[in-house]
Amino acid sequence: MQIIQPHYHAIARTAQDYERMAMSGVVAVAEPAFWAGFDRRYPETFIDYFRQISEFEPTRAAEYGIRHFCWVAVNPKEAENVTLTRAVLEQMPEFFAKPTCLGVGETGLHKSTKNECEALEAHVELAMKHGQLVLIHTPHLADKAHGTRRVLEVLAAMNVDPQRIWIDHVEEQTIGPCLDAGYWVGFTLYPITKCSPKRAVDMLEKYGWERILVNSSADWGPSDPFTLQQCVVEFRRRGHSLQEALEVFHNNPCRFLGQNPKFDIQPVRVEYDSAVGV
Ligand SMILES: [Zn+2]
Repeated sequence: MQIIQPHYHAIARTAQDYERMAMSGVVAVAEPAFWAGFDRRYPETFIDYFRQISEFEPTRAAEYGIRHFCWVAVNPKEAENVTLTRAVLEQMPEFFAKPTCLGVGETGLHKSTKNECEALEAHVELAMKHGQLVLIHTPHLADKAHGTRRVLEVLAAMNVDPQRIWIDHVEEQTIGPCLDAGYWVGFTLYPITKCSPKRAVDMLEKYGWERILVNSSADWGPSDPFTLQQCVVEFRRRGHSLQEALEVFHNNPCRFLGQNPKFDIQPVRVEYDSAVGV
């Protein structure tokens, strides 16, 4: 089955992951800019990182027949450094012109400090000014409910098009208000802690799949890109059709990401040969 990994940190993963993803149906990944595990000191370090994900990484993915797209941003953990954030934001528009860059992400909140909130606002403002999509990270575990509320407050005070904003890492307690406000939401699957494939399918069954994206964790921490395939299997095991699975794991990413014309992968529909029967 064709699958799109809408949130994938390729630079932290091996070529074998690309190969196995290709063998298990992944046709495209989208890589948001994120935290490197330590705080970077120079704006130039970000610029080279953006070059890596917008210029080099697509060539690595192409070896396996996978399309690679990216997003640029200063992640919330480093947004505490106001001077650095400002300097990087100034240079981000040049990356919006890259053929595989889809927008601003992941911005968002980590500890929901004043500096983080201001950085989030500046990122969203820049995205709206340049007609870019936005990917927003919400805090993990204990801070999730409060942090998500703050994200919604910051956005509510701005002039944004909710259909072009994706609030990621939602869970049972935060999905409702994000969907109600008209945003796209994402579930992020983890092998140990946080959201599991089973919980994700429970939420899909409860809320339907309009404006919902599912992505695996895939970074340098404990994570596993194939939790996404586990989720597909769990979804199908509960009796949902192949077309329904395609809607969730392929067509929804096409619908959201395709709002940026650079993402040109089209939704797919299964056609059965009526002469042979189903
Ligand atoms: Zn991420």
